[in-house]
Amino acid sequence: MLDLTGKKALVTGIANNRSIAWGIAQQLHQAGAELGVTYLPDEKGRYERKVRELVNPLNPSVFLPCDVQNDSQIESTFETIAQEWGKLDILIHSLAFASKEDLSGEFSATSREGFTQAMEISTYSLTRLARAAKPLMSEGGSIVTLTYLGGERVIPNYNVMGVAKAGLQMSVRYLAAELGSHKIRVNAISAGPIRTLASSAVDGILDMIRHVEEVAPLQRTVTQQEVGNSAAFLCSDLAGGITGQVLYVDAGYEIMGM
Ligand code: NAD
Repeated sequence: MLDLTGKKALVTGIANNRSIAWGIAQQLHQAGAELGVTYLPDEKGRYERKVRELVNPLNPSVFLPCDVQNDSQIESTFETIAQEWGKLDILIHSLAFASKEDLSGEFSATSREGFTQAMEISTYSLTRLARAAKPLMSEGGSIVTLTYLGGERVIPNYNVMGVAKAGLQMSVRYLAAELGSHKIRVNAISAGPIRTLASSAVDGILDMIRHVEEVAPLQRTVTQQEVGNSAAFLCSDLAGGITGQVLYVDAGYEIMGM
């Protein structure tokens, strides 16, 4: 049985009720995990209010701002976890960013700033958070990140985010190799396209979803809850032998050649 009772899980990347991280948080909670939630702070505090209201029913015992571009926010997040929980079992990395102009048109037009920002937020942040989590995962742990097929094959308009996801998937393998001796497993879920705040920045996302509905073996795309269920599995002892992997939760689309 999938049982996460007694596990402490930190979930990043909840922006609203469409977020994949929200689907994951719900499934972790249902499996019995105690939740900590971080949100991206903004000047007007809108995200904080919205995310707090959304996650309240799941009773998170830690709720903190954490912009992954800000080292002091990362440090204070993990200091608070050390104080409140004394350990960490699960880290969900479900965040990414690239500017809208870099998610359409010609890839060669990607600006230096746009490229660097996408890589820093979407790719480097996994390594930075894993480094902060490592000393707290003294009894072992599970780290799960979110990727997309556009990190392995060319998907129109995914552009710089495809390069960021390729780097992310390789980071999963290097982190898994290093952290395995600490009983920390690191895996990625490659989710099918879902309408969210982040995906709406990719030009033609609705066409991508329609294409998947036509071609994927299951003739549909996936839901946040399905991704959440697979994440909960990867975080549980049922997946105790799995690390360094990319698990496709995409209604089977990845296997198709045409
Ligand atoms: P989303 O917009 O709900 O989530 C993206 C999150 O990233 C937001 O919560 C946002 O606040 C956070 N974020 C952006 N910059 C940040 C920063 N500097 N510091 C901290 N947080 C920051 O969209 P989503 O689709 O749920 O995206 C979650 C993950 O899933 C992303 O890695 C995305 O690439 C991946 N993914 C999405 C799809 C899809 O079709 N939606 C498919 C495969 C993979």
